[in-house]
Amino acid sequence: MSEAHVETLTAINREFRLERETFERIQGYAHSVAEKILTDPRFIEHARNWPGYDLLQRNRAALEVWPQIEETLGLGGLVAFEPFVLSPSAASAIHGEYNPGTQTVRVNLHRDIHASFAEMISTLLHEGVHGVFDRDTAHIPFDTAIDALKSGEISYEQFMIRTDLLTYLAPPAVDLHDYSLGPHEQAAHSSEEFLARYLIAQGYDIAPRLPDDNLLHQHLRELNLITVPPEGV
Ligand SMILES: [Zn+2]
Repeated sequence: MSEAHVETLTAINREFRLERETFERIQGYAHSVAEKILTDPRFIEHARNWPGYDLLQRNRAALEVWPQIEETLGLGGLVAFEPFVLSPSAASAIHGEYNPGTQTVRVNLHRDIHASFAEMISTLLHEGVHGVFDRDTAHIPFDTAIDALKSGEISYEQFMIRTDLLTYLAPPAVDLHDYSLGPHEQAAHSSEEFLARYLIAQGYDIAPRLPDDNLLHQHLRELNLITVPPEGV
């Protein structure tokens, strides 16, 4: 994609926001996931012991968590799950990824990637949410999406989410701020914000990923879906 295209698309994404009901649906996913973590003795154990876990133990924990996320998001059987190990570099640290081609969620279990069990869960939720929105819009053909929008068959939100996969802006084309404003990323990043806020309120030590001046973050505050974190968090 040319620089001019990146600029145009970035400007469109800055103006675009998912619908309130969509953010509420995502909030529901995040809270259900949080409740499962907080009440299941296996996960309380993982949260406590995570810093001392070796790769096999991190792998086992991730394999135990994924079915819970899969069930919460209603992805059952549609999205495959694979852990992987990739060293972070000075330039980037890949936490996880969702591959729409293979419908696979992947999480990086390198020891320097997720400082806490809750952060690893947050990544799984993020990638799983990509899977949900990919699945929800997969029936819309790319090449006729604009016609479906014009005829009112699909909403603007559906159009933006579906076509986002064609024009996906990944770092380093854009920084984290603009990256989080891509239609798919608004869904995935807001799920992490909702989860982090819920866990912080329950006393977990987890930092929200987006800074306070992030436009998505501000939008969620304006909708009263998240509140400003207490001083020093
Ligand atoms: Zn993402």
